[in-house]
Amino acid sequence: MNPISRLGILYLISGPSGSGKTTLCRRLAGNGEAYYATSCTTRPAREGEKDGVDYHFLSIESFQDKMARGEFIEHAEVHQNYYGTLKSEVLSHLEAGRDVVMDIDVQGADTVRSLDDPILKKALVDLFVMPHSEEELHQRLSGRGTDSDEVIQVRMKNSLQEMTKWPSYQYRLLSTDRETDYASFTALLFAERLKTSRLLSI
Ligand code: 5GP
Repeated sequence: MNPISRLGILYLISGPSGSGKTTLCRRLAGNGEAYYATSCTTRPAREGEKDGVDYHFLSIESFQDKMARGEFIEHAEVHQNYYGTLKSEVLSHLEAGRDVVMDIDVQGADTVRSLDDPILKKALVDLFVMPHSEEELHQRLSGRGTDSDEVIQVRMKNSLQEMTKWPSYQYRLLSTDRETDYASFTALLFAERLKTSRLLSI
């Protein structure tokens, strides 16, 4: 039998702030199951966040410079700040057969879906993670303790708007508890790896 290889999967995850999606993505990467595509942002770092690990924290000028040079796969304005994913954080990994997990907002997801790149189209698996109620979402946003009331209000409003976008995704995960969510999250990736359409003879 010929050896078989495959392209990496681009596991694109969206969901409102406080849905737990970042924790899922980080855990997946921490377990060595995928490469976490570190985004760029112009928002200030929260306490405990590290440059180059949580985000590449950039000035507006530097972000715009990268935009002008076409270095982003996608970028968007979210919660009054710029966010974007660098091509270098994604393409070479997929080509090397490494799965990449991306935590991006609904606008960024729309952009990635619309890109006319055969590798990205084949690689893309998108999942929307959502809390099971509005109350739960509010609790999660305020319970984080890292944002001001004003920031929480903006995020709550944006999150409710974002939640209407789940039908654009191939998959939806209604969050229950940490372990159950992670089990579903990994099960989906593991099943996608077995798809015959991903396999390439080499
Ligand atoms: P936070 O400021 O809470 O870390 O992230 C705010 C929102 O920005 C989240 O919904 C997150 O998914 C989104 N986000 C993070 N990185 C990117 C990115 O590279 N591109 C886009 N479009 N959204 C991002």
